Amino acid sequence: MENASPSQFAVGIIGGGVAAMSCALWLKQLGHVPYIIEQKAYLGGQLLNLNRINRWILGTPDKTSAELAELYGDHIQQEAIINYCASQIETITAPANGFQITINHQATTRTLAVKALVIASGVRVQTEAIFAHIPAHTALYQAGAISYYPTDHLEQIPRLSGKTVAVIGGGDNAHHTANDLANAGIKTYLLIRHCPKARRMIRKCVELQIEQQLIIERTETHVADLHDIQGQIHLHLSQANGQLDMIIVDKIFVRAGFVPNTDFLDGFDIFNGIKKQAGYLTIDAAKRTSIPWVYAIGDVANASYQSIANAIADGTIAAQDFSDRI
Ligand SMILES: Cc1cc2nc3c(=O)[nH]c(=O)nc-3n(C[C@H](O)[C@H](O)[C@H](O)COP(=O)(O)OP(=O)(O)OC[C@H]3O[C@@H](n4cnc5c(N)ncnc54)[C@H](O)[C@@H]3O)c2cc1C
Repeated sequence: MENASPSQFAVGIIGGGVAAMSCALWLKQLGHVPYIIEQKAYLGGQLLNLNRINRWILGTPDKTSAELAELYGDHIQQEAIINYCASQIETITAPANGFQITINHQATTRTLAVKALVIASGVRVQTEAIFAHIPAHTALYQAGAISYYPTDHLEQIPRLSGKTVAVIGGGDNAHHTANDLANAGIKTYLLIRHCPKARRMIRKCVELQIEQQLIIERTETHVADLHDIQGQIHLHLSQANGQLDMIIVDKIFVRAGFVPNTDFLDGFDIFNGIKKQAGYLTIDAAKRTSIPWVYAIGDVANASYQSIANAIADGTIAAQDFSDRI
């Protein structure tokens, strides 16, 4: 066992994204012992997959998000904060006055006794909903004709020259994707189930591309069926007015939003009845969930304003609240 009794000062943080790292750093500076438990091999979470220069973070105007993840991870190492990457949580129980977490880390079982838990498990790309009813989807996805990750089009742009693509979704990520592809001269359909929901700045860019006929937008439209015919995708579209249409594209980029990583909580009795709204964990101003001494921070508890800055802030608030209470 890592620490024999539930230490008043130890905190288990589930997830190793920016929210978790920020919380761990603050806990450490406040004199506590944070343990980061991350299922993947590296710290960084979603940032690891974002290779675009990130101009939204104060003080680091020339870094990509992946580079920021590396910087943040280095800081955690320098502080000698204990992180168990590539770990699976096996059990979480609540003996008196704390929690006990059993993890499988590098084929070794470890037991951590902590006073509080912080859920920082983030979100994942929505992949199931849109095409679940279409049998051809699986084969097209496996063949690489359908992509889901919000920035995966960037590396594919050189191979898409002279091709036609469809972007499905109406939010910021769909708009950014369509805009990037159209900017590269790729004929782009933007297929929106209801109406555009993107923020004004990126919506304006797309509207300009629509005026210039670089993007063809269809609203109130959903994909009724799709077929692979000699290497091209035939997309059957159904519109709200009952009209049917068919377009032929070479590639589909789905931007259908995100779902919070909370399913794993169902495997542990101590989280029974934890309050959620639309799947996201419900928290108060101090980032406490409905279960005593369980906090939630970052995207998993924030459906509306997901950002690095908010995730960092959440981590600091939870750490300060813990320190004030203990
Ligand atoms: C395309 C895109 C562009 C973005 N651009 C920007 C931007 O320019 N500026 C900005 O500020 N923000 C941006 N964001 C948002 C920002 O990336 C997120 O708000 C932030 O990374 C959230 O961090 P997090 O720590 O809450 O979650 P995540 O980064 O999702 O980290 C959660 C971690 O928890 C781990 N995990 C999940 N379940 C378990 C489990 N059961 N056990 C152990 N570990 C688990 C996951 O593997 C992951 O590493 C962007 C997001 C996307 C998708």
